[in-house]
Amino acid sequence: MHIVQVGMEYDVLKENNRIANSNYRLLKENGIRTIEFMGSIGSGKTSLIIKLAERMRSKGLSVCAIAGDVTGDDDQKRMRESGLEAINCNTGHECHLDANLVRKSLEKMDLDKYDVIFIENVGNLVCPADFPLGADYRVVVISTTEGDDMVRKHHDIFLHSDIAILNKMDIADAVGVDPDVIAGDYGRLTGGLKTIYRCSTRTEEGVDEIVSALQL
Ligand code: MG
Ligand code: ZN
Repeated sequence: MHIVQVGMEYDVLKENNRIANSNYRLLKENGIRTIEFMGSIGSGKTSLIIKLAERMRSKGLSVCAIAGDVTGDDDQKRMRESGLEAINCNTGHECHLDANLVRKSLEKMDLDKYDVIFIENVGNLVCPADFPLGADYRVVVISTTEGDDMVRKHHDIFLHSDIAILNKMDIADAVGVDPDVIAGDYGRLTGGLKTIYRCSTRTEEGVDEIVSALQL
């Protein structure tokens, strides 16, 4: 039984990868730069997307976001209130977006219009790692409020992402978390090759560095 399950999982992941590659090609054909954001509920993905999008718009770039959530349109509403065009992508039951759901969202959009697309995944640090969507960059966002052990507990998501961000630096002291511990864990996990980006979407500390890192 276990072998059958492994086989089924393999097929699902293989099909997802096929559609993700197709999404990537579609986005490139339209000259669009796409960034996916993964991270827990409350890590600040939506706030970060809003701040990055403000900077993109001030550079004259046209931006749209895909707001992924199990149900509801709270993130899409926040994005739209900030002036960011956004479409909602509900998974219904699943705790992650998959490439096919993103494909359906892309088909609803006028891709000619956009230079940059931000995809916000469902709040979850586990299975999004296994489901690439076709973005140029995969970003994982954690926050100081989640404790200092997130990197130690969730290797896969950090290893499957291009850039890692530690948000809510402004309240690290208040929640008793030492950002250097998290940075040390991330450095060790990535063989000393990568550094976690520190930011606060509230004070905007570190946001410009993320713009540079994502080559936006
Ligand atoms: Mg959100
Ligand atoms: Zn999931």
